[in-house]
Amino acid sequence: MNGTSLQYRIVIGLEVHVQLATETKLFCRCRTEFGQPPNTQVCPVCLGLPGALPVLNEQAIALASRAGAALHCEIASFTKWDRKNYFYPDLPKGYQTSQYDLPICANGYLDIPVGIEGGDSIDDAPVSQRMRKRIRILRAHLEEDAGKSMHDEHAGRADSRIDLNRAGTPLLEIVSEPDLSSAAEAKDYMTEMRLIMVYLGVSDGNMQEGSLRADANVNLHIDRDGTTVATPIVEIKNLNSFRAVERAIEFEVERQKSEFLRTGLTKGQVPKQTRGWNDVLGQTELQREKEEVSDYRYFPCPDLVPVILDEAYRDRARQDAAGTPTYYRDQLIETHQLRAADAEVLIQQGRDSVEYYLALIANGATAKRASAWMLQDILRYLNDKGVSIGEYPIQPPKLAQLLKSIDGGRVDTSQAKQALTLLLEHSDWTAEQSIDALGIVRVDDSEMDTLCDLLLSENPDVVEKVKAGNAKAVAALVGQAKKRNRNADPRVVQELCLKKIAERS
Ligand SMILES: [Zn+2]
Repeated sequence: MNGTSLQYRIVIGLEVHVQLATETKLFCRCRTEFGQPPNTQVCPVCLGLPGALPVLNEQAIALASRAGAALHCEIASFTKWDRKNYFYPDLPKGYQTSQYDLPICANGYLDIPVGIEGGDSIDDAPVSQRMRKRIRILRAHLEEDAGKSMHDEHAGRADSRIDLNRAGTPLLEIVSEPDLSSAAEAKDYMTEMRLIMVYLGVSDGNMQEGSLRADANVNLHIDRDGTTVATPIVEIKNLNSFRAVERAIEFEVERQKSEFLRTGLTKGQVPKQTRGWNDVLGQTELQREKEEVSDYRYFPCPDLVPVILDEAYRDRARQDAAGTPTYYRDQLIETHQLRAADAEVLIQQGRDSVEYYLALIANGATAKRASAWMLQDILRYLNDKGVSIGEYPIQPPKLAQLLKSIDGGRVDTSQAKQALTLLLEHSDWTAEQSIDALGIVRVDDSEMDTLCDLLLSENPDVVEKVKAGNAKAVAALVGQAKKRNRNADPRVVQELCLKKIAERS
């Protein structure tokens, strides 16, 4: 080794724990609602009292297989339950019911965006040219969550308390292959994973409440004297924000680099480590040596029968998994020709926003105008009021009606925005009523005809200029038309005058 310059590759695998959006726990009927008073959502089953028997929650199987289908996994026709034994205060049974050798889903993948061929911006690239990196998924298995220990949370009292409301809540643990090669990629993977789970109703994806958390396995493959050596793998536990995933990996890469330079130790010379992320100090901290698999003494759970999923059930899971973010991206970009960047803003707003947009188009609005209004007026309203699209007071058919009246020349954009304000104030009004309320009266055809004839006879110079090939000169007439009749549509004036001049020559 010479100096501090190292040639290396970062190797990352993520284990993402997704809390499933079931109403009740995995093996009992206790509710899973977040934020209830401690130990109010518990029963003999999730407390692990002797003699209490678990009963499987079918909804957890439905959500897990739907998630697996969305991640292109094989869904098992036969899956079973195993006990993972360890002792920890937040695990009242002394074991966690999990899945060891026969997980419900295996061998899938998730694609993450990584730019376009020959460029670094994916904004305007068609889907076909955008490069995606495929992250393989090894397996996804169901397991129950543990409870929560709270240390020193009461002023002046150095005690520890336990809240078992979360114990027994269903988790899907999704294990990737070590295909991620930067902190940014890990963050992108996690972001897309969350989006898929929320789009499909598998999880609420609420990271502040711990509905999605990750463990990251990180090490470096370093080139030394023509061969590649690997640093010991470090597992960073319980990363519960996108930012934490990114920062913890960045920190760990630097730490492993300097550790390697200092000691030269490689994989095999140091056991796998478990480290925790300290968000305040911005560093990973050694927790304990990683238990070997055998330490958990897995064995099949004698209280639960295996689960058999027939072909029809697995087909239904695949159908339920159809509405992924990728499906909607293709709709927006390929079918409706939105710019990729605009489509992504809409996609990140959630499935309901995308459905709202598609409903505008289904009701006759043009794709371009609908996206401009969604991304400006509607988003601004939602942000200002702090509400979701489901709470937006105007339904798609009514807004589409308003947008169509711009296309038809009935109103211009600024008039339509005034009409929108009126619609927000008067929920029972139609788009037409809000336009009428602005005092915009449709000028009938014969009136326009007379007006244009008058303008042409009063402005022979304009007529001559147009005849000489300067069509833009007709704009002078538009201003005059507005003065004579404020409801005259500029576009109609322009078209009609040009037509009349053409007929005369
Ligand atoms: Zn219970």
